[in-house]
Amino acid sequence: MIKVVFLGTNGWFDTETGNTVSILISTDKFYIILDAGNGIHKLSRYTTESKPTYLFLSHFHLDHVVGLHTLLLNKFPKGLYIIIHESYTKILNSIVDFPFTMPLDKLPFDTRVIQVPKDIPKLPFQAQFLDMTHSSLTLGIRLYLDGKIISYCPDTGYCQNAVTLAKNTDLLITECALKPGEENPKWPHLNPEYAARIALESGAKKLVLTHFDAKNYPDLKSRVDAEVVAKKIFQNTIASMDCLEVEV
Ligand SMILES: [Zn+2]
Ligand SMILES: [Zn+2]
Repeated sequence: MIKVVFLGTNGWFDTETGNTVSILISTDKFYIILDAGNGIHKLSRYTTESKPTYLFLSHFHLDHVVGLHTLLLNKFPKGLYIIIHESYTKILNSIVDFPFTMPLDKLPFDTRVIQVPKDIPKLPFQAQFLDMTHSSLTLGIRLYLDGKIISYCPDTGYCQNAVTLAKNTDLLITECALKPGEENPKWPHLNPEYAARIALESGAKKLVLTHFDAKNYPDLKSRVDAEVVAKKIFQNTIASMDCLEVEV
C-alpha cells in the first residue's frame, strides 16, 4: 500500500492554515517527496524506515524550495536524489550553497541530482514529466508505483498536459491557488473548478487539492468551500490540510 502525507498545503507563504507545499509518498521501496516548501521540515516524523529518497522539485518559485535548508534534519541513510529539470541545475547548486545554507556536497548524506530529461533512465521507478502552463518552467509528474499511478500537477493553468499526466490515475494531486470562479491569465493557476475538470476529463479516480494560496484561502473553511465547488464537477475530491494522510 502507498501512503501519501501532505506535509505542507499552502501556496505562496506560511500562515496558521499551514506550511508551503510539500508531499511525501511512501512506497515499499522508496520515499518520494513532491516539492520542498516549508512543510518539508516535518519529513523526518514520517520517514522512520531506511529507504532511498527522491525529492522532485517542480520549479523554483520560493514556495516550492524554501524548505530545502531543513533537509539537514534528516539522515537519508540510503541517499537523497533530487529530481529537477536540467535547466535548473545551476540554480539548485546556487541556493543550496553558502551563504544561504550548507552546500549539497557538504551535507551529511549522499546527495545526487537527477536531471530531467536526460537522467530519467536512472530512476528506479517509471515516471513521466510534462511542462505545465506557468510563469516559469514548471514540470508536472506522473509516477508508476507498485501497480498504481499518482499524478502531480503543481503550479499551472488548465492545460492539456495536465489532463495527459492525470489519465486514469489512481490519485491526482493538483494545486488550487485561485478562489472558485477566479482567473489569472498573467500568472496561471487553477481554481477548484479547473482542477475538478482535469480530474473529470482524465478519468482520475481521486482528486486531492493542495497549494491553497495563503491570501485567497485565509482559513480552513475556505478550503472546504472550494472542495464543495469541486465536488459538483468531480465527486471524489478532498481539500488537503497539513498532515492529511491518504492511502492509494
Ligand atoms: Zn507555488
Ligand atoms: Zn509557481
